[in-house]
Amino acid sequence: MSRQHLVSVATTGSGSWGSGEHGFNTLAVHGGVRPDPVTGAILTPVYQSTTFVQESIDQYCAKGYSYSRSSNPTVKVLEEKLAALENGAGATVYATGMAATATVISTLMSAGDHAIITDCSYGGTNRACRVFFTRMGMEFSFVDMRDIKNVADAIKPNTKMVLSETPANPTLTLTDLSALSTLCKARGVVHVCDNTFATPVIVRPLDHGCDVVLASTTKFVDGHNMTVGGALITATKELDDKLRFTQNILGNNMSPQIAFYQLQTVKTISLRIKAQSETAMKVASFLETHPMVERVNYPGLKSFPQKELADRQHLGGEHGSMLWFEVRGGTANGRKLMDTVRRPWSLCENLGAAESIITCPSVMTHANMLKEDRLKVGITDGFVRVSCGLEDADDLIAALKDALDALTAE
Ligand code: PLP
Repeated sequence: MSRQHLVSVATTGSGSWGSGEHGFNTLAVHGGVRPDPVTGAILTPVYQSTTFVQESIDQYCAKGYSYSRSSNPTVKVLEEKLAALENGAGATVYATGMAATATVISTLMSAGDHAIITDCSYGGTNRACRVFFTRMGMEFSFVDMRDIKNVADAIKPNTKMVLSETPANPTLTLTDLSALSTLCKARGVVHVCDNTFATPVIVRPLDHGCDVVLASTTKFVDGHNMTVGGALITATKELDDKLRFTQNILGNNMSPQIAFYQLQTVKTISLRIKAQSETAMKVASFLETHPMVERVNYPGLKSFPQKELADRQHLGGEHGSMLWFEVRGGTANGRKLMDTVRRPWSLCENLGAAESIITCPSVMTHANMLKEDRLKVGITDGFVRVSCGLEDADDLIAALKDALDALTAE
């Protein structure tokens, strides 16, 4: 087993499953989980209970649980598993990825504080900062993080947080996490990395010196288009305590039912991502050969603009399920392709699931960015975002070929 696939089990308290070092897949299956102490059930049950009966007032919370907004046994196991997979000291899980984003911003920032956000991120992140948190007196700069110097130049005395996203949604631009973490540490700024696209299978930001990993667990952790959720995994227990405090105030935590589902789906995350990466490479390579395709962007391709960083930063030679392309004939043809491509493709939002998905970011996931900001980072109206699923690559390529063959150049 190579060193890069070894991560240590996070502190899981007494009676935890295993300790010391285990392979990533072992942790994906067993991390945080112990057989149910009452019945021996191999899966952690859904503790569908609002409250937990106390032995006495003196013994309040002696077993760790009082009320499910504050803590729940099923949810806690998912938190321990995700902390183990990201090599973190702690994790909190949320109702959605956006709930996690709102919680980390609310925790690290106050009125008068400044944060630097990558200029290309999930559209909802951009909107939350630009439209919502500015109303509370916070200030945001949106910066191209492909060059770390841009971040250094944007840091001000009141900068509290840097939020990176790599690969970024949807352009797949990469940020050098070790270099950015070194800068943030030197300047006393907390580095939060949205690791939704990469997942800990491909990148473990805490190993690069980041302070907090943010994830929409709706994507690869779920992987089946079934649930929505979010997570924040921290390098230190202190940061985890702070996030937990905010979460208990906002009450935006994940429910035990959803935690149960995600405890099962995450077990196969590395098998799925390996298969999805192989399919994405085949689809991207096919697209590069089609005369109606103007350009294709996938970190596995030699033509990827940040190929050296992709190979250095991504574990196991895998680059994920996401790619994008533009067709000849501009917006009209791009939209025609998205409207006409047949099954197994589906035209919708979401990514990282078993079902392959085509998304039009300018109308869907990134519609809430300002148009000029969108165009500046290259999200044109004909930009086609692709999430390769678990179907046979040949079927996906055949459907794309039919849709592309039907287009005519202007
Ligand atoms: N971060 C990234 C990179 C995303 O793609 C998304 C959603 O698409 C989010 C965060 C927000 O997650 P959710 O939709 O679960 O709230």
